[in-house]
Order: sequence, then structure tokens, then C-alpha cells
Amino acid sequence: MSSPMHSPDTSQRFIFENADVRGEIVRLHTSFAVAVQGKHYPDPVAMLLGQFLAASALLSTTIKFDGRLVLQVRSQGEVALMMAECTSDGELRGIARYAETPTGQEFRELLRDGTLVITIDTRKGEPYQGIVSLEGNSLAECLQEYFRQSEQLGTEFYFAADRDGVAALLLQQLPPQLHKEEATRQSHWEHFSTLARTLTDDEMLTLSNADILHRLYHQQELRVFPTRDLVFKCSCSRERTARALTALGREELDSIVAEKGGVEISCEFCGTEYNFGPGEVALLFEHAEGGATH
Ligand SMILES: [Zn+2]
Repeated sequence: MSSPMHSPDTSQRFIFENADVRGEIVRLHTSFAVAVQGKHYPDPVAMLLGQFLAASALLSTTIKFDGRLVLQVRSQGEVALMMAECTSDGELRGIARYAETPTGQEFRELLRDGTLVITIDTRKGEPYQGIVSLEGNSLAECLQEYFRQSEQLGTEFYFAADRDGVAALLLQQLPPQLHKEEATRQSHWEHFSTLARTLTDDEMLTLSNADILHRLYHQQELRVFPTRDLVFKCSCSRERTARALTALGREELDSIVAEKGGVEISCEFCGTEYNFGPGEVALLFEHAEGGATH
């Protein structure tokens, strides 16, 4: 099968020259491999996390923003938390927290009674947040429902994942430009989305973007844009970890230091370990208290 190393992680946009519809194809190999490495996720959890990562990349391309887009589900099912994010620079990371031995395979079991929160955290201005309860039988259905509720434009998602990688396709109606008549718009949309539904998981995972587009839309004129690189990159840092530690309170940290001689904490996303010695822990609070002692 395809090695994670030879296929770059990319996102690629295309538009139909004669219809108000656009699309995007995302492929993840290395970033997916890095996100699951050392985590021992059972297959269904890993596949689902792969879909979330791809979805965050797809969504980050549909919206113009400067910052990060976060998809997060909390559920009563076997996966208590699923989270994936993609920055406007194409940097991905994600995580799942799941029951000791998940037995479920299905989306609805894994994320039972879940709520999906989509957050767009911009570097400037207020964050935007959209919430949808997970009613569908797949991530694709849930995202479609979210767009049905929040936008007037048709939006469909298609995902395929195995242990080697994830492929995802988005189709989205554009506002009326070339064709104003609703009947024409609707017939384009139905035609293109019906064709997309004929793609098998195997085709999505093994065919190149060009072959997928030829297979589906060879009768259409398409404009295909250059690929954009995606990469796993965690936004954790020593400084942020220190800030999170101070939230535990000085008493709690002092007792950890007394017991273990320091505080050791590793990032849940990327596994990077951060160690703080007794002196550093004391210093955290001097800074947190406004740097009163210098
Ligand atoms: Zn990290």
C-alpha cells in the first residue's frame, strides 16, 4: 500500500467553469500518521479522527479567516472527546479520548448524544462558534446538516479512511453568478453531487485527484487550482503549558513538587514533554502574580 512518506498532505480546490459549484479534495497521510502514532487508537477511533482532521482542513478552506478552525465533539458514547483543528496556514492536529476498550464501530455508538462545536478562532476579533447536535449516521451527514441549518448553499462531504490515510471531498454551491434560475442551479447541484456519491472509498483512497475528477466530471469543464500543503503541527509551547499549569493553583503544584521533585507534563496532541523544576514552578507564580518580585 501507499507509504505515508511519498504522498504529501494536500488540499486542492476546483471549480466548475459552467456552473456555480466548487469543490475541494483533501488527502492526509503523514499528518494522520503523526496524529495517531503512539496513541494506540482502536481502528474505528483512528478512522474517525482521520475524518475529523480532513474535515477541519476542508472547512478551513471554505472560510476566509486568519487563525484556526476547531472541530470538537463531546459525547456520551465510547469516544468522550474528538477534536481536530486546522490553521489558516494548513497546520493540523487532533486528538480522541475514548473508553478503555471501545466495542462500537458505528459513528452513532462512538459519539452517542454528541454535540459538534465548530470554532473559528481568529487572530483578531471575537471567535465564531457554531453548534450542531450529532443526529446523522456519519460525520459527513452531520456536517451537511450543519450547513443546511446555517447556510442557504448546498454543501456535501465525502470521506474515506484507512490506516494509511484519509481522503475527503467537499462540494459546495456558490452564490448565483453564472446561473440565476433556481431550477438550473438545482439541476447542476443534484447532478454533480449524485456523481460524487458514486465514488467508492477505495477509489477515493487510491486514485489521484486528477483521476477522481476525470472519473466523476470528465464531461464538465473544470478549473483546478494548485495544491496547498497541509502538515501536522502542534501549537503547544513551554509558555502555554506553564500558563495551563498555573490554573491548577499554587498549592496543588507545590504538593506535586514536594512529592515528585518537579512537575512533568506531556502534550496530549503531540507527546512533547515539558518539565518544570521547583525553582521554575515558583517562578510561574511570580509571573502569574504580575511579576511583583524581580
Ligand atoms: Zn503539542
